[in-house]
Amino acid sequence: MLQSPRRIAAVLLCAVSLVSAQTIDTATLAKISAEAASGSQVSQVFDTLTIDIGPRLTNSPAFFRAVDFAADKLKAWGFENTHKESWKFGRGWTLNKLTLEMTEPRYMPLIGYAEGWSPSTAGELVATPIYLGDKTPAQIEALKASLKGAIVMPLPPQQVYVREDRPQPSASGVVAPEILSPSPLFATPAEAQRLNVLARTAGAGLVLRPSVLSDGTVYVTGRDQGAANVPSVILSSEHYNMIAGMMEHNIPVKLRVNVQATYQEAETNSYNIIAEIPGTDPLLKDQVVMLGAHIDSWHTGVGATDNADGTTTMMEAMRILKAIGAKPRRTIRLALWGGEEQGLLGSKAWVAKATKQDLENLSVYFNIDNGTGPIYGFAMENNEGAKPLFDSWLAQLRDIGARKNVNLRLTNTDHLSFIAAGVPGFNPFQDYQDYDVRTHHTNMDTRDHVKTADLRQSAIVMASFAWQAAQMDERLPRK
Ligand SMILES: [Zn+2]
Repeated sequence: MLQSPRRIAAVLLCAVSLVSAQTIDTATLAKISAEAASGSQVSQVFDTLTIDIGPRLTNSPAFFRAVDFAADKLKAWGFENTHKESWKFGRGWTLNKLTLEMTEPRYMPLIGYAEGWSPSTAGELVATPIYLGDKTPAQIEALKASLKGAIVMPLPPQQVYVREDRPQPSASGVVAPEILSPSPLFATPAEAQRLNVLARTAGAGLVLRPSVLSDGTVYVTGRDQGAANVPSVILSSEHYNMIAGMMEHNIPVKLRVNVQATYQEAETNSYNIIAEIPGTDPLLKDQVVMLGAHIDSWHTGVGATDNADGTTTMMEAMRILKAIGAKPRRTIRLALWGGEEQGLLGSKAWVAKATKQDLENLSVYFNIDNGTGPIYGFAMENNEGAKPLFDSWLAQLRDIGARKNVNLRLTNTDHLSFIAAGVPGFNPFQDYQDYDVRTHHTNMDTRDHVKTADLRQSAIVMASFAWQAAQMDERLPRK
């Protein structure tokens, strides 16, 4: 929307007066940095999530272990009002066994993973796959009856890959886009969806599809599609293409596939975890500055960059504030969400349950999810009033790598639940190196891609932003 010069001037004046009204509390910022160095718990928390627990698919047994671990840890650190909040999700899912081999014309183990909530196969399937990638729609229709119980390869060889990480908008020389999202190639193409439905209605024994990433990296998500679903495995694109090529050359390929999974039906509620440092200003203590990250992950790696690093960062930011004895004017609240990967479900449930007054009292929501590595700045989400404040807060963090805040919007994570309810919600930019091409929702989302020093840096940034926002005279400007 275009704005008149008068309105812009008014916005600028208002922003300038807000900045000058708040002096930067350098003494507290120094304490935050000192505590982040001397009392750091980032290794302990991150190791527990990624070594002891592992991947945390929502409502799997490992997810519930992570929820209990985080809630117990936050209680032990002495926060107020620490509790779990339930919301309706559905059943959990755990993979117990996956065999994925080519047995003819030669033996070769294949790189691939079952999609989340994939049903089990009817025992071990040993068969020549039915390849539809070189067939016309009429030929596919004619083959429909033969798909029943078969291993189906519905798609042609994968020829387009996500080969670049998203641009880093705070890097010098980068022109920031209006919206920064993952590549559209990650979305399942309409043709693949149509053939999936066809395989399902034909009662296929298993559907094999290629990854959209290369070099053995397998991008895998999944949804609970109920009893009608068919077992589904994503193969590395190179292995899918190899088999497709052999099928097109009429080489008698034989595959051996076995998927065995368990649904957890006993607990269909999922959980968010809440913890607070109560506000101390009689006029402002009902107002809240909120920090959040999702604790759930996909199932093929260990969910290190998505999002054990974010969970660790926000828990540590809260721990630091508590440890330095911070007495914020507003309440500072932490939320760790479940079900983010299935559609921001935990944060949406929290917002749906909040009263109008709860949302009015919420000054700002800070999220951390996309990317890994150090925080360079924040995506301003078109909030012009907040920009000068964020710039002044970020300026204090230059010596630990902060660069600049950028006027653009981020997609696909929990701050959107708050923005939809009229609450200012923000994510930082982290380093996107290897995030899109290697770790995001893949078998390679492992600990090797996260550095402890970056977790310490991110926690300092988040603790200082939470502190500054909690100390303002006014709520953060709303759009
Ligand atoms: Zn995530």
